[in-house]
Amino acid sequence: MALAGVAALAVTTPLAAPGAAQAHGAAQGTPPSTPTAYGYGGAVSTVDATATAAGLDVLRHGGNAVDAAVAAAAVLGVTEPFSAGIGGGGFFVYYDARRGTVSTIDGREAGPASMTEDTFIDPQTGEPYDFQEARVSGLSAGVPGTLATWDAAARRWGSRSLGALLMPAARVAQRGFTVDATFNQQVAGNRDAFGQFSSTSELYLPGGQPPAVGSVQRNPDLAATYRLIARRGADVFYRGAVGRDIAATVQHPPLAADPVGTWDYPIRPADLRLSDLAGYRVRYPAPTTSDFRGLTVHGMSTPSSGGTAVGEALNIIEQAGTPDSTVGVLHRYLEASALSFADRNRYVGDYTPQPVLKKLVSESWAAKRACQIDPGRALAKPVPPGDINASGCTPATAGAPVENGQSTTNLTVADRWGNVVEYTLTIEQIGGNAMVVPGRGFLLNNELTDFNFAPTQGDAPDPNLPGPGKRPRSSMSPTIVLKHGKPFLALGSPGGSTIITTVLQMLVDRVELGMSLPEAMAAPRASQRNTAGIVAEPAFHSRYGPALTALGHQFAEDTPELGAATAIEFGRHGAMIAAAEPVRRGSGAAAVVWPARR
Ligand code: GLU
Repeated sequence: MALAGVAALAVTTPLAAPGAAQAHGAAQGTPPSTPTAYGYGGAVSTVDATATAAGLDVLRHGGNAVDAAVAAAAVLGVTEPFSAGIGGGGFFVYYDARRGTVSTIDGREAGPASMTEDTFIDPQTGEPYDFQEARVSGLSAGVPGTLATWDAAARRWGSRSLGALLMPAARVAQRGFTVDATFNQQVAGNRDAFGQFSSTSELYLPGGQPPAVGSVQRNPDLAATYRLIARRGADVFYRGAVGRDIAATVQHPPLAADPVGTWDYPIRPADLRLSDLAGYRVRYPAPTTSDFRGLTVHGMSTPSSGGTAVGEALNIIEQAGTPDSTVGVLHRYLEASALSFADRNRYVGDYTPQPVLKKLVSESWAAKRACQIDPGRALAKPVPPGDINASGCTPATAGAPVENGQSTTNLTVADRWGNVVEYTLTIEQIGGNAMVVPGRGFLLNNELTDFNFAPTQGDAPDPNLPGPGKRPRSSMSPTIVLKHGKPFLALGSPGGSTIITTVLQMLVDRVELGMSLPEAMAAPRASQRNTAGIVAEPAFHSRYGPALTALGHQFAEDTPELGAATAIEFGRHGAMIAAAEPVRRGSGAAAVVWPARR
């Protein structure tokens, strides 16, 4: 491996998929990576070989899972800059082996003080902005939470300084990494948006074109930003020079004098100030907890809807009987998912009261929803949300919107002491709001478009309207599953609202259908988010479509890929299976400290 400070991967892969590709964004000289690794002493799984190698190096040198997760995430900010970075936010879930507890950090972006319920309503027309118009603007940029998350995690649970953990990533940014097809395509898909901004064009559109596959991508500005933070601490970002540059970018988007491509919308500034950054705090909400077939499932609480939606759906699945066929299991999975999404859309937002959240993941609520599932017939979609105040098996009224997303990244880390991190981080859409902060080398998020632009719940209140300081509802679902109080499985994925169904389906595949973790990782996916048609990968549609259609399910147009998960399963005597995608998103990279043959 050519990069100093980033160890070579040494991984044994009995189950490596034939022809597994080099991971996305691979560094110069990066060794071939593998999607599955077995062994001991700690494990790392990310979408990217360089990030996995950085995490593994930290573990090998005595760092713990939190140290390794922060170091790997910082590298993802370099090699996966369109999905993650210090311009964004995320959710960090941590199992502390000594205490036997699961804790979380909510590092979600927040609306600035200037945000109002009408921020995404065009004052000229009184109608919501078109999504792309809202996205590529200052209006969509939330106060970033990612750096505060790393800082908080390192201080609370880490054994290294934040500065030390940023150094491997600074080196990758300085020396560069080899552009692969995914990186190239992500820029190509954003050419017109990136091309509107001088800073973004300079970094990602050399000569007006996306960086060529095989070329070396460097980001000296980001290297310098990481080093500056390493020297001066996170305050330089939240209270100092970097924060000032973020506010200036949102208030005065760095428009290119000679744009690349065309953009059909005005590019609106917004009023995000240094005081918004200075006022940002991570939160430490208790994880959501639900029981599923003797396992304890810990997920992320609000402002993510991931924990409650996955927990509620698992409860419904458990209460809806035990089918004797794979199609029966999948039917119940799809129905439970639709019911859970209806309730999420109605009730879950940043300010949902705790009693409501608790109710949604309660057995009694699941009973009220599970009774609607007919094993022989699919419910008409969309299903209405349940009435939180009513008793009995009586649905309320109103429909449900569904939002999509393609960006985001996820990582899973475990150390030799048994600590586990499951971390999902994002800048929302691929490429965020398309504005690189000039001179700083990172993209800003467009997370605030995860708010509903206008009320969606008819006469009922919408829990996810914008507001000052409010955090938009997320679907990110970093999940740690315990068995008898000890880690059994940790998993998570990107994919907008399909994150919830990807995590749910992997749990169903692993626990209900008895697949191994690598099989559950590779299995074709389908997502029923309470819409008329199921969105499925082609292999799922062709394999199960006829039987599910016979039950009354409808399919929307297929999608090539759902999710890009990472996971670790824990066996006896410290054994670990680290798993990443064998194919999706150009394949991921799993590694263990001490490889073993199975
Ligand atoms: N912004 C999305 C969320 O928080 C994630 C985006 C994605 O995964 O595409 O749910």
